[in-house]
Amino acid sequence: MKSFGLAIWGDDNFIIKKDTVNINYAAKPSLLEITQEIRDKGYKGPLLLRFPHLIEKQIATLFSTFEKAKEEFGYTGNFQAVFPLKVNQFPNFVHALMDVSKNYNYGLEAGSKAELIIAMTKTPLGAPITVNGFKDKEMISLCFIAAKMGHNITVTIEGLGELETIISVNAEFNGDIETPITPKIGVRIRLHSSGIGIWAKSGGYSSKFGLTSTELLEAYEMLKKHTLLDHLWMVHFHIGSQMGDIAPLKKALREAGNIYAELKKRGADALGAINIGGGLAVEYSQHEDKQERNYSLREFANDVVFLMQDVAKSKGVEEPDIFTESGRYIAASHSVLVAPVLELFSQEYTEKGLRLKEINPPLIQELYDLFNTMSRERAREYLHDALDHMESLLTLFDLGYIDLEDRSNTEILVNLIIKKAIALLKDEDSDELKKLQDRIQEKYLVNFSAFQSLPDFWGLAQHFPIMPLDRLDTKPTNPASIWDITCDSDGEIGFNRDFPLYLHDIDVSKEEYFLAFFLTGAYQEVLGMQHNLFTHPTEVVINFDKEGKYQINDLIEAQNLMDVLDDLDYDTNLIDKSLKYKIEESTQLDKEEKRELLGKLYLYLSENSYLKTIQAIDEKY
Ligand SMILES: *Cc1c(COP(=O)(O)O)cnc(C)c1O
Repeated sequence: MKSFGLAIWGDDNFIIKKDTVNINYAAKPSLLEITQEIRDKGYKGPLLLRFPHLIEKQIATLFSTFEKAKEEFGYTGNFQAVFPLKVNQFPNFVHALMDVSKNYNYGLEAGSKAELIIAMTKTPLGAPITVNGFKDKEMISLCFIAAKMGHNITVTIEGLGELETIISVNAEFNGDIETPITPKIGVRIRLHSSGIGIWAKSGGYSSKFGLTSTELLEAYEMLKKHTLLDHLWMVHFHIGSQMGDIAPLKKALREAGNIYAELKKRGADALGAINIGGGLAVEYSQHEDKQERNYSLREFANDVVFLMQDVAKSKGVEEPDIFTESGRYIAASHSVLVAPVLELFSQEYTEKGLRLKEINPPLIQELYDLFNTMSRERAREYLHDALDHMESLLTLFDLGYIDLEDRSNTEILVNLIIKKAIALLKDEDSDELKKLQDRIQEKYLVNFSAFQSLPDFWGLAQHFPIMPLDRLDTKPTNPASIWDITCDSDGEIGFNRDFPLYLHDIDVSKEEYFLAFFLTGAYQEVLGMQHNLFTHPTEVVINFDKEGKYQINDLIEAQNLMDVLDDLDYDTNLIDKSLKYKIEESTQLDKEEKRELLGKLYLYLSENSYLKTIQAIDEKY
């Protein structure tokens, strides 16, 4: 695996050029040269690189695929899309998103008041805003304010209580006005068919959201009674995220299409749109046989358009506009997390580390001979002998017959023998060898926090593609476990025989080695938690100029120590004073030492939590 499954998850966004992974765009720079340039400016620790051209690509592909499907079927409704802010609300992302989507009348979806404020500020007038989720009077009032500003906003009714609030807010805002301005109204329906996968709770009958058919009929009557029926224009559903199989979507589309048609036939004349929510999956897999998605965007779009047309035709109603709220599909590929490897833990298991004596215990001498004379034919036999000797030697140590140096030699030799046997027998795929790989897996300590940067790995066992930035012309041979720098044993991406990851054998005291984590642009940033007080990493936006050369823009450095404490509502003035006082009042220090210590302390306080140096490797990390 020299390409780390790039052909499966990469979507042609990256290419391997010689020995590095490069951006498959413009002048095709390597991720390594971009990383080095940022690090040379003094930003160490993990880096989040954002690529607006990849957001643009996703939006353009989404729109062109649906337009093609419409053309193919002769569909008369429009296709429109909004981005659900909960997937990524970070300003560098949202600004890039709005910038690259100008020509698509692309809008934003909000699920909370704060998200609604972002949508009201960043969506161009005329582009759609949709508002979902639980709403109180204030949030509904904000929707009315947005409508009065001139926004094309649709507020989705999630329950009958909300509809009552909409009716009363409408009276308040429009009661005595000649030309009332009201947001468009949508209804979220509770589907009989449910989603699948770990996020299935968003759809289906036991879902948190949506109206049952009985409630829907009631809502219809309420809207009619309060002369709001001519604002009801959207039917909405969302069956859950990362939908691996397309079958549940098809069922949901038929169900939602029939509800749309029934409401329309009943007299909801303004009804004109179906919003199919999100759920469009991203291929995260690095392994051919573990793919997460069984359909293409083309199939997805064709199914949506065909089924909507089919239902509309058979019920004799107009073909609705189709809205999507795909978030993961739009955002996931746009960011790459790059993190330096700080240390390889079993690097001490090298021949150099042996402390052989003039006269060794016979079993150790024998291990040494096994290691030196092992051949392909006898590899398995020698391996079994070595494992057997190790058990005996460890028992001898417990009984006090051999010393610590002997025990260390045992560990090293057995480790070397296993590695050599695996290398010699690499064409065999036996279970025994795979199990042994677990034993000699190399632990890579990486300067990042899995809790902060890959929370879905921690919470949902979601895999993200991982690959080193260089050495891609060399076959990696170490079965790898990745350890983050939190003090939590959950911060480990362990070697998994079902999803094996192999990395290069590097002496990090001599050479740098960076790992990149891909497809981190959806959900990870805002779900990331400050476990151990590691913050959002330093981030940059990578744009390309007319000549195709990359530019590093909008750098936001990881929060410094005092800002992190301030966020937790510590009184940082007090912290500052207390630290200063303790140094100044110390009786053990002279004036010069105090001055020097204070200088150092303030320098450190202005920096972030991630590691800069480790052991003797200066300047690099
Ligand atoms: C979360 C959510 C989305 C986005 O789903 P993705 O799977 O990320 O595309 C869309 N619509 C609603 C209502 C949501 O809650």
